[in-house]
Amino acid sequence: MHDLIIIGGGVIGLSVACFAQRAGLSVTVLDRNPPESESCSTGNAGMVVPSHFVPLAAPGMIGMGLRSMLNPESPFYIRPRLDPDLISWCWRFFQASSRARSEASAPALAASQLDSRALYEQLATRDGLDFGLQKRGLMMLCASEEALQHELALKPAAARLGVALEPLTPEQARALNPGVDITCAGGVLFPLDCFLSPPQLLAALRAAILRSGGEIRHGVEVTGWDASGDAVRAVKTSAGDVSGAQYVLAAGSWSPRASSGLRVRLPMQAGKGYSITLEQPPAQLSVCAILVEARVAVTPMGASLRFGGTMEVTGLDESVSARRVAGIVKSIPRFFPQYTPNVFADKPVWHGLRPCSPDGLPFVGRFRNYTNLLAATGHSMLGVSMAPVTGQLIANALTGAPQPAYAAAFSPDRYL
Ligand SMILES: Cc1cc2nc3c(=O)[nH]c(=O)nc-3n(C[C@H](O)[C@H](O)[C@H](O)COP(=O)(O)OP(=O)(O)OC[C@H]3O[C@@H](n4cnc5c(N)ncnc54)[C@H](O)[C@@H]3O)c2cc1C
Repeated sequence: MHDLIIIGGGVIGLSVACFAQRAGLSVTVLDRNPPESESCSTGNAGMVVPSHFVPLAAPGMIGMGLRSMLNPESPFYIRPRLDPDLISWCWRFFQASSRARSEASAPALAASQLDSRALYEQLATRDGLDFGLQKRGLMMLCASEEALQHELALKPAAARLGVALEPLTPEQARALNPGVDITCAGGVLFPLDCFLSPPQLLAALRAAILRSGGEIRHGVEVTGWDASGDAVRAVKTSAGDVSGAQYVLAAGSWSPRASSGLRVRLPMQAGKGYSITLEQPPAQLSVCAILVEARVAVTPMGASLRFGGTMEVTGLDESVSARRVAGIVKSIPRFFPQYTPNVFADKPVWHGLRPCSPDGLPFVGRFRNYTNLLAATGHSMLGVSMAPVTGQLIANALTGAPQPAYAAAFSPDRYL
């Protein structure tokens, strides 16, 4: 029997396993899918972003959501349906998107992601894991003067939170990316942001866990719980009961479903996104970028270049919306004239379901109704960025080590 059973082998479950092992615990990771199948953690944009201290639930997002319902190519979409979970999630999202709430979340998001960035450096240098970490910053590129002013206005808040922000002229953006034609009104550079290769990261974490004696069981689905009073005795799985001393729920967008029957409440919706990877791009970026008005993320990964975007709140539906993918492709030449739609023709489209909490903060920590059950889920757009710090926070909770002050903002009981 291992010390820790982790449900979910995406980037969060694997990071939890890695950091728990560092703290001296033995681990088993259960994932219902085979290793080659793709989770949300595979095809994402791989950005590590202390710059993203404004949560998804922010002023203006509700208006954008309502406007986008009429546009089948818009990057943000909530499919209206009579689902009580969706209605209550939307209400909580609305409450969290006030200026006061969104500003209150910023310190926890910035501090935790700065810590996570430092832990990534440690994984790469001290532990020798190779996942293509590039510490070259992130460009936020703006097509319009209005968007540019909005980005520049973040500077005082960024400075207060210890996140460097530098204005970026179109000439400076082009100089940072030789050979790439960039058209924009300007942008900002967040020099502390980084990017990495998600498939390499997953492979490196899996190898590290196995090297340290951990177990990763693929094709094992958690179907229920054997819990009595305030303790979990075992998880019921497609391969029989599995028991350990402690349990961590890290099942991404499926966490609410996987926790059914337990006395916990994790209001979450899946936020579907798409990516297309060009193996031989016509020109290669050196620094990753977000195309602000288009809400498209662009990341160089070795010789290839990945474009990701859209946030469709359409339940656990995994179908691909060709119109919204076309929306991504059509928005790109406005910023990068070399990446015309024909460059993307016939390229495979990947999709993933981001596990979205209503307030844009993850659920990380011990559930108060159970002595041996913890949550590590709900990271929305920041699962890669926050994976190492999530692992560290869970390891601290398991061993009784002191937690940073921001850990309280991630309580998994905040909607109980
Ligand atoms: C287009 C796009 C771009 C993105 N870009 C970025 C980025 O640049 N930076 C960033 O930080 N984040 C980014 N994200 C978000 C990031 O990908 C997610 O936050 C992250 O992958 C979530 O990881 P996870 O481990 O919680 O979930 P997942 O990766 O979904 O893993 C959950 C795992 O749990 C397993 N599982 C589910 N139910 C069960 C069960 N009952 N039993 C056993 N196993 C189960 C699943 O098989 C799955 O493997 C992006 C997302 C998208 C869609």
